[in-house]
Amino acid sequence: MVEASMPADTQGEFIRCPRCGQKTRTKVLPSTVLIEFPLFCPKCKCELIVSFRKGTLTRAAGA
Ligand SMILES: [Zn+2]
Repeated sequence: MVEASMPADTQGEFIRCPRCGQKTRTKVLPSTVLIEFPLFCPKCKCELIVSFRKGTLTRAAGA
């Protein structure tokens, strides 16, 4: 039997929409890196192209 030392699946947090500030359904860990990721906001009902690195979310220019 192989036991992997996986971290608890309760880690991470939901990305907040840079447009309206509401939580989206996309979850990231502090170590997650996203580059030009199409983030869908259920509140705005639209996609925003964002990047996420070192715990900081930035909205891609021209998105
Ligand atoms: Zn939004």
